[in-house]
Amino acid sequence: MGKISMQNPIVEMDGDEMTRVIWKMIKENLIEPYVELNTKYFDLGLEHRDETGDAVTTEAAEAIKECHVGVKCATITPNAARQEEYNLKELYKSPNGTIRAVLDGTVFRAPIIVKGIDPYVRTWKKPITIARHAYGDVYRAFEMPVGLGKVDVLYTDPFGVEKREEVQSFDKPGVLQVQHNLKPSIESFAKSCFNYALSTKQDLWFSTKDTISKIYDHTFKDIFNDLYEKRYKPLFEKEGITYFYTLIDDAVARVMRSEGGFIWACKNYDGDVMSDMVASAFGSLSMMTSVLVSPDGNFEYEAAHGTVQRHYYKHLKGEETSTNPVATIFAWSGALRKRGELDENKELIDFAQKLEKACVNTIESGKMTGDLACITSAPDPQKLNTEDFIKEIGNTLAAL
Ligand code: NAP
Ligand code: MG
Repeated sequence: MGKISMQNPIVEMDGDEMTRVIWKMIKENLIEPYVELNTKYFDLGLEHRDETGDAVTTEAAEAIKECHVGVKCATITPNAARQEEYNLKELYKSPNGTIRAVLDGTVFRAPIIVKGIDPYVRTWKKPITIARHAYGDVYRAFEMPVGLGKVDVLYTDPFGVEKREEVQSFDKPGVLQVQHNLKPSIESFAKSCFNYALSTKQDLWFSTKDTISKIYDHTFKDIFNDLYEKRYKPLFEKEGITYFYTLIDDAVARVMRSEGGFIWACKNYDGDVMSDMVASAFGSLSMMTSVLVSPDGNFEYEAAHGTVQRHYYKHLKGEETSTNPVATIFAWSGALRKRGELDENKELIDFAQKLEKACVNTIESGKMTGDLACITSAPDPQKLNTEDFIKEIGNTLAAL
């Protein structure tokens, strides 16, 4: 049988350290034997980012706008230690931050579920995807300590008309915080959530505390609700999925009793806290996928973990590593599936499905990397090194 062809390219963004090593192995062992890969390649490895003054990161993000689909390897976000290690000209920004700024997206994180790696919450059977709004609130707040006296807010509109309101009269010293958000940002967050729910055919939940925050949180609720009623309702009904709004505390209680299988859209702070809780309650960071979805329909897939620096240094010393490639493989399968859906390429969609099944079946057969071997409930787990595990997934794939 010939290889599966791709009508249109995906943007491939190579990265750093252990994940760069795994990236090459995944392509050679699991993808290239089956697919005539059509990618626009960008090397986001730190050395090449430095050579290009980080222009390569922006070029890659712009390319995603053209191709609509990208897959990214984990990359180093440089700090002072990395600047010295790589002799960098500058302390470049986080590539993910740069890409997010170009695409204006929302990040969705979902765990990969396999038998034997059991969620700590007994009722959870399907993944719970957290969608976190990534602008404003406490992350862009103004704060100051205050003594005795009075605090007012003063709003001046573009014509110079002023509106002043008292916030609080202090008869004891205190602290002050002022938060804001922007309606276009909330709207694009909402659109990304609705589009992602449609594209993955899952229900969408959204929660705030609008009973207490009658203007601020209520604005979020209203924007989601208006968009749903005016645009997304018929599309949701066609797919047989629902949009559900509830208070954040009610949502938490329902999530804990649920069996999963939905998207939970959260405001910035709620998403920060809840995504870490959900990720660890599902078992392992190395089994967490991440996709950036922009409101105008661009998708960028990656693993949620970093470059696994500690394993890379062992690898450099020639020592054996047991690094889990599954989230990175799922980044590839996610991107290939999306490419297949956009191009109506059924063979490519089927291949993506098989690739994921091969990962799951291999782990469920008891063969896994060290991070899983130490938490699995499987009776006799066999811990494999990085390369052998990828080859074993290749064997499972070949037999599917
Ligand atoms: P990390 O790469 O996520 O690794 C932290 C630890 O988690 C590892 O040392 C390892 O634990 C475990 N781990 C993570 N992924 C694993 C996998 N696939 N298989 C097995 N174990 C895994 O985080 P980090 O070491 O803090 O960061 C390293 C670099 O990654 C940093 O330069 C950071 O800037 C970058 N980073 C990039 C992204 C991204 O591109 N999306 C995200 C986060 C961090 P043990 O050592 O105990 O085995
Ligand atoms: Mg957090």
